[in-house]
Amino acid sequence: MNSAERASLQVPFARPDIGEREVAAVSEVLRSGWLTTGPRTKEFEAAFAKALGVQHAVMLNSCTAALHLALEAIGLERADEVIVPTLTFAATAEVVAYFGARPVLVDVRPDHNMDPNAVERALTSRTKAIIPVHFAGMPCDMDEIVELARSRNAAVIDDSAHCFPGEYRGRTVGTLADISCFSFYATKTISTGEGGAAVTSNEQWAERMRMMSLHGISGPAWKRYLAGGKWYYEIEAPGYKYNMTDLAAAIGLVQLDRAQEFLDKRRRIAARYNRAFGELEAYELPPRRSDRSHAYHLYVLKLRRGVLSLDRKQFIDKLGALGIGTSVHFIPLHVHPYYQRTFGYRPEDFPVALDLYERSVSLPIYPKMSDGDIDAVIEAVRGLALS
Ligand SMILES: *Cc1c(COP(=O)(O)O)cnc(C)c1O
Repeated sequence: MNSAERASLQVPFARPDIGEREVAAVSEVLRSGWLTTGPRTKEFEAAFAKALGVQHAVMLNSCTAALHLALEAIGLERADEVIVPTLTFAATAEVVAYFGARPVLVDVRPDHNMDPNAVERALTSRTKAIIPVHFAGMPCDMDEIVELARSRNAAVIDDSAHCFPGEYRGRTVGTLADISCFSFYATKTISTGEGGAAVTSNEQWAERMRMMSLHGISGPAWKRYLAGGKWYYEIEAPGYKYNMTDLAAAIGLVQLDRAQEFLDKRRRIAARYNRAFGELEAYELPPRRSDRSHAYHLYVLKLRRGVLSLDRKQFIDKLGALGIGTSVHFIPLHVHPYYQRTFGYRPEDFPVALDLYERSVSLPIYPKMSDGDIDAVIEAVRGLALS
């Protein structure tokens, strides 16, 4: 498909839900004369921390930045290892490579989440951290993973890019790990265009991440251009430029307020898909676990081998021709050239992830979908199974 065809899809794969409240909030910031990190960002940090029930939220310009700063805060060094599931996005593991440290990939369970048994086998005396990814928005086996980490004095940093809001055994996702990282990218469950947050209840880590997000300057560096702000500052470490703008935070505050409305809509779409596809032999529905919620950032349908006459590529092409946008989450890290070249991984090393990858198709699921959009997806996907 070329870009013109993509633009004309009847039901695109993803679309942000930005309403008049977000527009008004951004206009207000534009008129205020304060565009970058400032009062709106501080307000968003307080509101997000309160929503999760954590002590500190550090607002950043991406979840990738959050993961990077989290590893910096725990003191990751070159000789260390960090355990990462292979079925994830580039960001989860690349941040480990930033330090010259080694991302140790592990396989997932059939529910797409990091396999605690694989984590146990991968632990060594060099393991500094474990980064579980709550795939599609369903929390990982956090009790098992945290216990394994504690046994080795390793940190747990969860990649919660898909999982806001999330709940696991009565606890909120964001409170389960040492540091949790969220994404507000355009396709995520709430969005600021680009944006992310690192949350923790450890004050020392929060302060370190805050400082390193703005050039390693100590104290509230963002205040230096405020009335009464001080020109003097001290650089404590070579930091980064990862701060969130007030323009983004203004959008985030409204989106946070709408998070429950968005979740309800995503759940409703998932329920309709489950009803429509559940009885069809050709498809396997997304996994559910009774002790945890599902944020439905993604709805990943799996094709059963040997039932459809189409393969996965043909299936996606047919849906595209019918005007339905789809995606695939994810091409496992271990089959990408960088990981194969650098660490010698082979495709068969992680059979569960490879099997899931080969059979997965992510369908559109977002609050802006109309009933007609949902009907169109259902009709197209059912049609392909019955043809
Ligand atoms: C989107 C995503 C990220 C990165 O988020 P950004 O805010 O774009 O940096 C990290 N991990 C996973 C699993 C993601 O899906």
